[in-house]
Amino acid sequence: MNGRKARALKAQKKAEDERLIESIRDAHPVLLRRDGEMEEWQKGPLTLWVPVVRDDYPPALKVGLQLRRTSIFELECMCGAEVRVSASRRIALRHTVSCPASGEALEPLAQAAGIATERADG
Ligand SMILES: [Zn+2]
Repeated sequence: MNGRKARALKAQKKAEDERLIESIRDAHPVLLRRDGEMEEWQKGPLTLWVPVVRDDYPPALKVGLQLRRTSIFELECMCGAEVRVSASRRIALRHTVSCPASGEALEPLAQAAGIATERADG
């Protein structure tokens, strides 16, 4: 494959990814089920696992989890999180390390409170 064709394919994938992301952003979320500390939502073509924010959580954890929920539904975050679409069309949101919704920020808070923030098989 020559460089021009590779660039064209890359641009095509990027355009497809952006259309997919837009279709998910525009879709109305529907709650499918709750499993422990996580909820499964359908939003357009995507199934989302989002953390539940309970009233009895420590305040810093609630703030971070609420931001994480919102960023998952909107596929964007105030930190400028990068949205990536994998070859298998899974979507990952990459928060900056300093973002309160990042795994780096949430994991220690969640662990201290004895809460799972990620599905083990996710
Ligand atoms: Zn973020």
